[in-house]
Amino acid sequence: MRCLVLSDIHANLAALEAVLEHARHHHARFDAVWCLGDVVGYGPDPNECVERIRGLTASGEPNICLLGNHDWAVLDERITEAFNDIAAFAVRWTRQALTAENLDYLRTLSPTAQHGDYSLAHASLREPIWEYILTAAIAAENFALMRTTRALVGHTHVPAVFVWDTSAQRARAFALSPGMTLRLNPAHRFILNPGSVGQPRDGDPRAAYTVLDIEAGLWTQYRVEYPIARTQEKMRAQDFPLILVERLAHGY
Ligand code: ZN
Repeated sequence: MRCLVLSDIHANLAALEAVLEHARHHHARFDAVWCLGDVVGYGPDPNECVERIRGLTASGEPNICLLGNHDWAVLDERITEAFNDIAAFAVRWTRQALTAENLDYLRTLSPTAQHGDYSLAHASLREPIWEYILTAAIAAENFALMRTTRALVGHTHVPAVFVWDTSAQRARAFALSPGMTLRLNPAHRFILNPGSVGQPRDGDPRAAYTVLDIEAGLWTQYRVEYPIARTQEKMRAQDFPLILVERLAHGY
């Protein structure tokens, strides 16, 4: 089964369209789309992105779309209060922009899912909505909770691979260069993060996504250029905070 793995689209339609076009061009066919959450928040196109992801995943298994912390905050003002001012602005703007039908769709989502030997969570297994797995030490604590040999997470907006080293009893982190494929050794356990489609934070402003071939055990990282200025113009037109507009060009 070949899966298109997306995360943290954050209402950036130009980035999402570029990813879908690139994926179609290189792979022609997918058996499933797995979206790891945060379809909305930060960006100017929440309805368009929700509708695109709904179209790709609404038929259910094997397609999956998780609930992210921003998606959740849009549904519940009490959650929004935990956000910093800039993120909270984006959440409140998104709440009034979304149609009732798209809000209802977000209400159907869950922050975790499982498919065979793959555990999926927006953020982490320990804290599915909030924890950032940014270091091998945090990954190690999550490996201890894993009931499957593979976990997929988003939330950090940084593509990452963590592998559990059984002999040393510790987790190791490494980065996969764009275009590179990692062979998922069946003897090892992995926590994998595809990075963010709509707001990368690893210093590379290109949209990130991965393709997972489950039977072959292959995880391929991609980065795709997209018209960042198109998204930024829409944000300026809606008086979004400048930092949200500018960060897209820098990938932070
Ligand atoms: Zn996010």
